[in-house]
Amino acid sequence: MEESKIRELVSQMTLEEKVSLLSGDDFWHTAAVERLGIPRMMVSDGPAGLRKQDQGGDHLGVNESIEAVCFPSGVLTAASFDTETMKELGETLAEECQAEDLGVILGPAMNIKRSPLCGRNFEYYSEDPTLSSKLGTAYVKGVQSHGVGTSPKHFAANNQEHRRMSSSSIMSERTLREIYLGSFEEMVRESKPWTIMASYNRINGTFSCENHELLTDILRDQWGFDGFVVSDWGAVNKRAEGVAAGLDLEMPSTNGAGGQVILNAVKAGTLSEKAVDTAAANVLRIVMRYVENHRQGVVFDRVKDHEIARKIAAQGMVLLKNDGDVLPLSADQKVAVIGAYAKKVRYQGGGSSHINTKKVVSFLDAAPSSSTVTFAQGFEDGEEESDEKLFAEALEAAEKADVAVIFAGLPDKYESEGYDRTHMHLPPCQDELIEKVAKVAKKTVVVLHNGSPVEMPWINDVDAVLEAYLAGEAAGEAEYDILYGAVNPSGRLAETFPLKLEDNPTCLTYGLEDDAVHYSEGVFVGYRYYDRKKMDVLFPFGYGLSYTTFDYSDLKLDKTSMKDTESVTVSLDVTNTGSRAGKEVVQIYVGQKNPEIARPVRELRAFTKVELVPGETKTVTFQLSRKAFSYWNETIHDFYVATGDYVVEAGKSSRDIVLSAELHVESTVEVPYVFTANSTFGDIMKYPDKMAKVQPVFASLMGGLGGGDANKDTAAGEAISQDMVMAMMKYMPIRAVTQFGGAGTEEVEKILELLNS
Ligand code: BGC
Repeated sequence: MEESKIRELVSQMTLEEKVSLLSGDDFWHTAAVERLGIPRMMVSDGPAGLRKQDQGGDHLGVNESIEAVCFPSGVLTAASFDTETMKELGETLAEECQAEDLGVILGPAMNIKRSPLCGRNFEYYSEDPTLSSKLGTAYVKGVQSHGVGTSPKHFAANNQEHRRMSSSSIMSERTLREIYLGSFEEMVRESKPWTIMASYNRINGTFSCENHELLTDILRDQWGFDGFVVSDWGAVNKRAEGVAAGLDLEMPSTNGAGGQVILNAVKAGTLSEKAVDTAAANVLRIVMRYVENHRQGVVFDRVKDHEIARKIAAQGMVLLKNDGDVLPLSADQKVAVIGAYAKKVRYQGGGSSHINTKKVVSFLDAAPSSSTVTFAQGFEDGEEESDEKLFAEALEAAEKADVAVIFAGLPDKYESEGYDRTHMHLPPCQDELIEKVAKVAKKTVVVLHNGSPVEMPWINDVDAVLEAYLAGEAAGEAEYDILYGAVNPSGRLAETFPLKLEDNPTCLTYGLEDDAVHYSEGVFVGYRYYDRKKMDVLFPFGYGLSYTTFDYSDLKLDKTSMKDTESVTVSLDVTNTGSRAGKEVVQIYVGQKNPEIARPVRELRAFTKVELVPGETKTVTFQLSRKAFSYWNETIHDFYVATGDYVVEAGKSSRDIVLSAELHVESTVEVPYVFTANSTFGDIMKYPDKMAKVQPVFASLMGGLGGGDANKDTAAGEAISQDMVMAMMKYMPIRAVTQFGGAGTEEVEKILELLNS
């Protein structure tokens, strides 16, 4: 609907009608204004399938919802590193929404994985903002291209479940912009989500739901968001302050309480009616968009969508180890299938994303029954203690087989919305079982079902590991497809697997702080930390194997030097050098050489997934512009490219860089600097033109120590070299001319005037 018509409709409403639009009518609907033909609109979780509740709403996945298709969790879809897969998922979900008359699906979940312990990591995409944002863009575009809205969540810096409704994420402006808002920015700008969900937590003390800087200055004014902002369910602290800050819709219904607070504030003059008009127009714009795009008669085809869930699942499973090419298995091998999750697969996480599905296929359901496959349960799902009888059966089966395949993983209760994990282990009985089986079996393969990294104390004892994550209702079929080679694995880790929890920078304080949560590792999240510290990891970010091999060659940049207003084209050739068709994920990282501020060694800036038959070569190209070389500068409050030399790398993971090339980038932006008496000589030296201006003054005051005659040896002779003098001078404040140079305060003033003019 045209903007003028929306405004016109709002102008016809009473204050009470406008206010009624700003709260849920019930758990899942916006309110109607029947007098003006404005209907209710239903929203639903999200993000990996529909959790539409026709009766009795709740936000923790407790009550029944309609029977729906459970697609793989965010952690797995992100590991596809594939925007086409995300788009297809979005399109499929949108058609289901059309069939169920839903206006908005509550997702994607875009928060950064700061710690492996976050209970909702299974829903989130990555530790890397570029990957997360690009995948989110594809999902949102996929859904919205079919006339259904999305609600990327949880905006923003909601990276733990511990005290999730009261905690405050405390971090620098740079950390917020580069990492935590970084996950949302490109997605908002590129895909224009219809709505966005404001998170439960506070950021630097202010609740997201009443954060004007977040919801209005950044989201709307800087990024161009034009939909409505909805609170996470129950996230509102002060409703009237929320309206003023840019929180349009409160969910769920508060039975009129929230509306009354708004009305009172308008009547008391503490909230302007204009703010209410703006919020009402924001809600109305999307409700009318839903009305215009809703299609009658769309069929919810569960069979077709199940097949799509199977295909997507196989795109994101990650082959972590495959010594001696033990995988893929062949039909004539004797295989001992071991583990409770082979029969009853763990395929989704708990909480509001939980899908009510009836058709869950395990590996044993998917594998055709044959005399070459035997099964032993090995452990009890949910148990920690080992069961000697189950162990004995498993070991006997393993001994008799050519290959033992253990279906291990985390029980449901280990990871869920609402609370965090406290450790990174599998249940002890499973670790023990894997170690014992590996001792007796000829070959051992482990298939993992988990939403977040686990420690693998047995990694050197087994031959292969397939990370199947939480793969949705078709998990077992996708596992079968990969284990028997119908699909060549192509997933790559969207998160680092540290060797142990204690290697993660957040481990000192995660879950151990009260409401003030200090993000003291700054921008060094995930591989940005491990790479900078040169630490060994279990599996690095971006890593994953294939049943074939790929070579990279001929990395080219179309220039060797450029201004920050230009962009560079990067190209390279990728060849399938093995004997099977497969998909490779080419990752482009950028790092600055010798930066003057703390920066990660490398940061993912682009990636693509390319399919190649044996012997085939394809050229892949990428465009890198300003943002790819930038960091957030807190003086100019913007992304800034420092003049300098940069390395552009093409790699298979953050730890497997195959080719690299250098590029010089020249900044066109001047970072203003106001000199004070406590600015140092080093600060002045960064600006050669300023240095030239004040050099004569220093020279006369300090006998040449101001850098004027830097190459001449001083009287101090051998005891102190000119280099040492210069190094010491670097940190000397300008006011030192009064202490050591015999100058008065007027001279300091004069110097500052020259510098700041
Ligand atoms: C979750 C959201 C979800 C909402 C509605 C909240 O508890 O944080 O992700 O969309 O409930 O179920």
